[in-house]
Amino acid sequence: MQRERWIRLEQLFAEALALPIATRSAFLERSCAGDIALRQEIVDLVRSHDAAGVLDAAPALYAADTAAAPRPSLAMGTRLGPWRIEKMIGRGGMGEVYAAMRTDGAFEQRIALKLLRYEASGQLERFHAERRILAKLEHPGIARLLDGGTTPDGRPYTVMEYVEGAPITAYCCKGRQGLRERLELFARVCDAVAYAHSHLVIHRDLKPANILVDPQGEIKLLDFGIAKLLDVVVAERDADTTIAPFTPDYAAPEQLTGQPVSTATDIYALGVLLFELLTGERPLPMQGLPSVHALSLALDRNAPAPSRIARASRAAPLPAHRLTGDLDAIVAKCLRKNPAHRYETINGLKLDIQRHLRNEPVLAREGARLYVFGRLLQRYRWAAAAVFAVVVALAFGLAATLWQAHRAETQSRTSAAVQTFLRDLFRANTSSQDDPVKARQTTARQLLDLGAKKIGTSMNDAPAAKLSILSVLAQLYDDLALDDEAVKLRRESVSLAQTLHGANSAETARTLIELAGSMHASSAVNERLKVLDTAAAVLDHRRDFDSELRAELLARQSEHYQSVDLPRALDYARQSVRLFETWPPSVDLAESLYVRGLIEQNLGLVHESASSLHKAIEVSRTVEGFPNPSLPRFYAFLGQAQQRMQDLAGAETSARLALQTARAVNGENHVDTLQTEMRLGRMLFDTGRTQEGLRLLRAAKERALKIRGPDDPFHTPPALLEYGYGQARAGRLEEGLSDMQAAIANRRIHRPGTIPLANMLDAAASALVDLGHFDGALAYLDEANSIRSNGGAVARTLAYNLNTSTRIHMALAQDNAETAQSSLADYFVDHDETHGFSNTEIERWLLEAEVDLEAGHATLASGLAKRVRIAIEQSGLAAYLDFHAMRADLIEGKAALQNNQPAVALPLLQRTLKVREKLLDPSSPRIAEAQIALAECHLALNEKPQAQALALSAKAIHAQHKDLGDPYRQSLRKLQDDLAAKTKI
Ligand code: ADP
Ligand code: MG
Repeated sequence: MQRERWIRLEQLFAEALALPIATRSAFLERSCAGDIALRQEIVDLVRSHDAAGVLDAAPALYAADTAAAPRPSLAMGTRLGPWRIEKMIGRGGMGEVYAAMRTDGAFEQRIALKLLRYEASGQLERFHAERRILAKLEHPGIARLLDGGTTPDGRPYTVMEYVEGAPITAYCCKGRQGLRERLELFARVCDAVAYAHSHLVIHRDLKPANILVDPQGEIKLLDFGIAKLLDVVVAERDADTTIAPFTPDYAAPEQLTGQPVSTATDIYALGVLLFELLTGERPLPMQGLPSVHALSLALDRNAPAPSRIARASRAAPLPAHRLTGDLDAIVAKCLRKNPAHRYETINGLKLDIQRHLRNEPVLAREGARLYVFGRLLQRYRWAAAAVFAVVVALAFGLAATLWQAHRAETQSRTSAAVQTFLRDLFRANTSSQDDPVKARQTTARQLLDLGAKKIGTSMNDAPAAKLSILSVLAQLYDDLALDDEAVKLRRESVSLAQTLHGANSAETARTLIELAGSMHASSAVNERLKVLDTAAAVLDHRRDFDSELRAELLARQSEHYQSVDLPRALDYARQSVRLFETWPPSVDLAESLYVRGLIEQNLGLVHESASSLHKAIEVSRTVEGFPNPSLPRFYAFLGQAQQRMQDLAGAETSARLALQTARAVNGENHVDTLQTEMRLGRMLFDTGRTQEGLRLLRAAKERALKIRGPDDPFHTPPALLEYGYGQARAGRLEEGLSDMQAAIANRRIHRPGTIPLANMLDAAASALVDLGHFDGALAYLDEANSIRSNGGAVARTLAYNLNTSTRIHMALAQDNAETAQSSLADYFVDHDETHGFSNTEIERWLLEAEVDLEAGHATLASGLAKRVRIAIEQSGLAAYLDFHAMRADLIEGKAALQNNQPAVALPLLQRTLKVREKLLDPSSPRIAEAQIALAECHLALNEKPQAQALALSAKAIHAQHKDLGDPYRQSLRKLQDDLAAKTKI
C-alpha cells in the first residue's frame, strides 16, 4: 500500500517539477483527483525541493549582517526580563537563537535565548513541548534549561545554557581528530542520548548542527524542538506521524514514511553521525536530490560500509583498514532499515564502541542473541547447582534483554515486564521440582537469595539494567516481607543511581524513597528519617513539588511520623492524598487514603478515618480487584474505626474480611495474615468473645515467633503485646506480663523512645497494678509519659487514656482516692453521635464511679453506674459491652451493699460473677473479686453457706497467683473476718 503510494507520489512529483511554477497547482488539482492528502504531500515536497535544503542545511552560524541571513526579529540591546540581547547566533525550523547577557545580577552570565519565530506560530505547542522536555533533562551533555518567558508581543522564549562550540563534525575535521578521539567523543554523545532515553525522551533530530563540541572538548546536545516524550507516543501517534521538520539525511526510514518512531530512530541517526565521523561523508547523501528520490534511497538502498567509502576517497580522515570489521559492523547495525534489527539500546551501541576501543569482540559481529545468551550462561555457570545457575542466568540475561527490548516502551511497562518475567520464572521453577511442597516453600527464597548475592558483582557493564533488576529483587524481598534483605539491595540501588544519574537526579530520589519504604519494617528503621530528608532535599533541589515522586515521598514521610508526631503525619498524608487524587485511581491513591485513615484513627477522628478507609477499599477494589494484597490491612483498620464508632457488627464483618483476604492472598505464614489475625482477635476479645479472641491472639503470637523470630523488631513485639495484654486482662496476669515484657525489651532495643513503646509500657503497667507491683507500674507509666511528652506536655489522646486509667486504678488500690480523683481530669473523652455516648465516655463514668465508691460516695457511684447500664441497654449493643456491664453491675451492687440494701445488690452481683466467669480465665482475680462481693452480700442476707463456698473459691483463685495486689487480698481477708464474726455470733 505504502509503496504504491510512493510510486504514484514520485511520478506526480517529477511531473509537477517539470512544469512551470504557475501551472503546477492546476495540474495537481487535476491529477490528485480529490486525494487532498496526496496533493498536500506533493505540494510540501515541491516546496521543500524549491527551498533547496532549508531544512537539511546545517544551519551555520549566521552573521547578523549577511544579506542571505534572515533578519533577526529582535534588535541588539533589546531587553527581555533580566536578559539583554547581544546577537543572533542561529536559526532553525522553529526558532531564532540569540546570545544574551544577564543584566540584573552582580555576575555576568551569557545565555542562549531561543525565540519562537513569527512564521512558526503554528509550532507553539511544539515550542512549549521542547521547554517541558528540557526541564526534565539535567545532564552535562545536554544544554541546560535556565528560564523561560514571553516577549511583549506574545512570543514564547526559552533561556538555555550558552554553548560556545562547533558542530561535532566540524570540530573533528578542524582538529584532525584521530580515531580514538572521535570514538570517545561519539561515546559521550551516546551517553547524553541514553540519558534522554532513560527519561523517555527521543530526540528525533540528531545531526551535527545539534551536537556542539566546546573548546574543552565537551559535547552538548541541542534542539529538542521535535523531540518526543515516549510515554505519550501512543496517544499522540495519529497527530504526530505527519511530516516533522527533521533532516532527511539523518532520518531513519520509519521517520521518512511516517511510521511510529522509537529510541531506535535516534540510534539510526547516531549511525549516520558515526559514519560521517569515520569517513567525512554521509552514508546516503540526499542533498540536492528531489525528496522522493531521497526517500526511495533511504528506504531501498543499504548504506555502504564505511571502510569502502574510506578506501575510495582520498580526503578520508581515517585509513580504511581501521574501519574494516568492527566499525563497519557497528555502523551497519545502527543503520538497519528495520528498527528491531538495530541496537536495542544506545547503551548497547556505546558498549560496542568501548569494546572495540579495548580490542574486545563487539556484539555487532556475532550472531546476536545466541552470542549474548551463551556468554551469560558462561558467566553464571558458577556452581554445581546447575539448575539454579541456568535459571539465574535466564533471569538476568533475559530480564536484561527484555528490559532493553522494552526500552522504547514506557518505563513502567518495562519494569512490569521484568517483574512478570521473574515471577513467572520462579513459578516455573517451583513446579519443576520433584517435591512440590518443599519446592513451593523454599525455592523462591533460595533463588532470590542467590540472585541478591550475584547481583552485587554482576551486570556492571549494564548499570541501568542492573538498577532495574536490583529494584525487582528488592521488591520481591518486600513482597516476602524480608525487609532487611530488601534494604540491602535498595542501598545498592541508591549508590548505583547516584553514580549513574547524579546525586540530584530523579532516579536517586526514587531509589531513596524506595529505600525508606523498605526500611519501614526493617532493622534499619532508625535511619529512615535521614533517608527521607535526603530524598526531600533532592526533590526540593529539583523544584519538584507535584510529581508522583513527591507524592510517594509525602506518603513515606507520613508513614515515618506516625510513630513520633501524629499531627505532622496527618499533614503529610493529606498532602499525598491530594496529589494522588489528581491522577486516575491507583494503588498509590488507595495506599495514601489508607495511611490518612490510620492517622485520623489514632488522632481520634474516627468518622473521618472510616470514610478514608471506605474510599481506600473502593479504590483498591477498582484498581486491583478482590481479593488483593492491600485489602487485609484496609479492612482491618476499617473494622477498628467501626468498632470505635460502636458499629460493632460492621466492625466484625470488616475484621473477618480482613483475615479472609489475608489468608486468600498470602497464605498462613505471612505478616498480613498475622496482623489481621491479631486484630480480629483483639476485636473479638474486646467485644466479649474472649476465648475465640485469645485463641487468635495466641496463634498470631506463635506465627510471629515462627516466621519472624523473637528478635524481629516489627511484627513480633505487637503480637507478643496483644496476646500478653489479652491474657492479663483475662486474668492470667503473670503469663501476660511476661509476654508484654518481652515485647518491651524488644522495643527498647529496636525502637526506643517511640509511641508504640509507650503504649506497651501502659499495658504492662496495668498488669503490674493488678499484681500489686506499684513501684514497677509507676516507673512504666512515667516512662511512657516522658516518651509521649518528648520534652513538652503530653497530648491527651486515646492512646494516653490507658495510662490515666491505670494511674487511677493504682491510686484506688493504694486507697488514695484523692490522687485518683485528680487524675480523672486527665482522661480524654471523645464524643460520638451514633449512640449519644462513646466508649471513652462510658469508661470515664465507670472510673468516676469507682473513685466515688472508694471515697465513700456510694449514691453518686451508683448513679453513674446506672447511667452506664442504661446507655448500654439503650444502645442495643448489650451483648458486646460485657466488659463495661460487668464493672457497672459490680459498682452498683457494692454501692447498694454500702447503703445497706443487700437485696438490691444480690442480682447485680450475681450477674457480675456470671459475666466474669464467661469472659475471663478461671484463674482471674476479678472472678475472685466478684465472688467476694457476692459472698459479702449473702452474708448481709444471712446466707452463710453460700458466702462460705464463695470465699473458698476466691481463696483457691488467689492461691494461683504468687503476687496479687493488696485490694484483692484485703477484701478476701475482710470477708474471712466477717465470716468468722458471723460464726462467733
Ligand atoms: P530550531 O528548533 O529552530 O531548529 P535550534 O535549537 O536548532 O532551533 O537552534 C538553532 C541553532 O542555534 C543551532 O543549530 C545552534 O547553532 C544555535 N543554538 C541553539 N541553541 C544554542 C545554545 N544553547 N548555545 C549556542 N548556540 C545555540
Ligand atoms: Mg535545529
